[in-house]
Amino acid sequence: DGVSSRDLEDALYAFGFGLQCSYVKPFGEGHINETYAVYMPTEDGDEFAYILQRVNNNVFKDPAGVMENIFGVTEYLRNVIREEGGDPDRETLSCIKTKTGCTYFEDSEGQPWRCYNYIPNSVCYQLVEEPEQFYQSGNSFGHFLKQLGNYPASSLKETIPDFHNTVKRFGNFQRALHRDIKNRAVTCRGEISFVLEREQDCGVLVQQQEEGILPLRVTHNDTKLNNILFDADTGKGLCIIDLDTIMPGLAANDFGDSIRFGAATAEEDEQNLDLVHFDISLYELYVKGYLEATKDVLTPEEVESLPWGARLMTLECGMRFLTDYLEGDTYFKTAYPEHNLVRARTQFRLVDEMEQQFDRMKEIVKKYCQN
Ligand code: ADP
Ligand code: MG
Ligand code: MG
Repeated sequence: DGVSSRDLEDALYAFGFGLQCSYVKPFGEGHINETYAVYMPTEDGDEFAYILQRVNNNVFKDPAGVMENIFGVTEYLRNVIREEGGDPDRETLSCIKTKTGCTYFEDSEGQPWRCYNYIPNSVCYQLVEEPEQFYQSGNSFGHFLKQLGNYPASSLKETIPDFHNTVKRFGNFQRALHRDIKNRAVTCRGEISFVLEREQDCGVLVQQQEEGILPLRVTHNDTKLNNILFDADTGKGLCIIDLDTIMPGLAANDFGDSIRFGAATAEEDEQNLDLVHFDISLYELYVKGYLEATKDVLTPEEVESLPWGARLMTLECGMRFLTDYLEGDTYFKTAYPEHNLVRARTQFRLVDEMEQQFDRMKEIVKKYCQN
């Protein structure tokens, strides 16, 4: 699935770069899309860069829907940032249309390409090097939610249906367990019980959303550290990127997914469970940054839902790994036969520790809500 030079060239022409561009190079460390930086000379002899991306259409089946969501949200953000007195060219992605006015370009193999402004003087971190960055991360994703607080979330396309429907995820798990096509259930009885004992939990947030207790928000759905660009001079969070999975959803889910991987002390596939812990001091840092930005816009019910989000996003993720293990590793890439089971175990360890410290997790949220 490499990019042919012919398709890259066609994409460059489609967005009007053609022969004028100084050079093009593969860029960043993303795992989903193919990303390039395109450098264009300016009249005063300087250079100006763009980001050209081939969108992964195995993951995103509806590129037109994805681009419609991104255009809507980024145009809106530009106005919000102007009103805040910020710099819309650095604080949000902006989409650039093709020469013919389309939101994306389809190459000879039917693969979609899109183009963004390059965010100058920014840095991207693959992992938390300083705890401060995790605070910044919470603050940036919180600010993003606040900026989009009045955006009509229900007008967004649900480009990956039921992405965080934990009830459906539980149903998928039950089905995989029932079929047990690889006869692997005997190898993971403990993990299976762990999930089955938590069926009720899976409904907690879904139910509150269905009853209208929790509102739908514009959610990012990939709230990783490397989807924030930091200002190279100030070290502060600058711009949220990677907007492919923008969808209507719950604040608690974005929050929870950040905590799931950001407040863990080991890799997702660490085999030695003694190394896997939920670090509540990292959780506290994220909560602090997040609530500083959002405490005035979240409803009291949403604030209360945040610790549940952490628990449930972690449970959901573990459940998905275990489901894939039972189904014979058809979804996640695996390096060895038990890889998905190992991943499920780390997630369940984290869930277990969150459950034990749940009261403390709630207290921390309360603490940072006070003015
Ligand atoms: P993926 O879905 O593959 O992670 P991203 O959209 O996150 O794709 O892009 C991959 C990387 O490219 C980012 O982590 C970041 O380092 C860099 N990048 C993406 N967009 C921009 C941009 N507009 N300006 C500067 N760097 C960017
Ligand atoms: Mg990314
Ligand atoms: Mg992505």
